[in-house]
Amino acid sequence: MIQDIYPKIYHNEYHDLTPGKDDCILIFHKNKVLVRFQENKLRYPTLQELEVHTRQPSLPNSSKAGKTIFHYLFSIDERKYFLAYPDDTALILQEAPPVVLPGYAYEDVRIFRTAGSRHTSFAGITAHHLFGWYQTNRFCGRCGHPMSADRKERMLFCPKCHNMVYPRISPAVIVGILNGDRILMSKYAGRAYANYALIAGFVEIGENVEQTVKREVMEEVGLKVKNIRYYKSQPWAFSGSLLMGFFCDLDGSDQITLDTSELAEAGWFGRDEISLTDDSVSLTREMIMRFKHGKEVSL
Ligand SMILES: [Zn+2]
Repeated sequence: MIQDIYPKIYHNEYHDLTPGKDDCILIFHKNKVLVRFQENKLRYPTLQELEVHTRQPSLPNSSKAGKTIFHYLFSIDERKYFLAYPDDTALILQEAPPVVLPGYAYEDVRIFRTAGSRHTSFAGITAHHLFGWYQTNRFCGRCGHPMSADRKERMLFCPKCHNMVYPRISPAVIVGILNGDRILMSKYAGRAYANYALIAGFVEIGENVEQTVKREVMEEVGLKVKNIRYYKSQPWAFSGSLLMGFFCDLDGSDQITLDTSELAEAGWFGRDEISLTDDSVSLTREMIMRFKHGKEVSL
């Protein structure tokens, strides 16, 4: 899966650091990221490259100066990653990206699904998740005062009313529903992702994840399930979520009632009818492959 970057090690502990000249700088503009491909490998600019090539006064060489904010994100092995964005609402909202760098281009963050260089892609999509959190919490949601970054942990606080905001992660479930030697697969309605997937949905306030599994299955395909068993989890920054995968068994009728606002189609598939191959990216695909190869979790 996308987070499996072994033998590289992802270091998520927060530190109050400022970028050095060789550190990677992640610059996003909406759903695009500033990258270049070097020998088919994804690369991010270093601070030094930005300082040499960029003429904009918004890129300083210190942690917070002028109109750019830098946040330390994480490290992978010894490599440190920082986020940079302008502290200026007009620049953030404008159509053109605020930073242009020779040799680099803005690519849609969906390239992280297919870019190949695994740890670099994982760094990029995780950084994009944090970027969304930092950018949507520049002001206090309670009193409107500008937020400050805490120095000890990854947290934003309001100096005026003491509101504290931690990174937002939305828990969600993925459900492999088994019916004897068949599994239920579905296709989303109105989404760019066109392959078969499993039933999925966000956990709502006031329910545990097993209840989410039952509710989502009933809402989306009108089926009852039993024997719910946990499989694995996955950070899925594309939707800002933590995915929790479950297998379960059909309980009662196999008659599907489709929620057409969510799904374009859904049906039961035998192992030989699954033409998908492992993409080594998503938990959904890993679960489908596990079923296809007869290795689904059973009680
Ligand atoms: Zn406040």
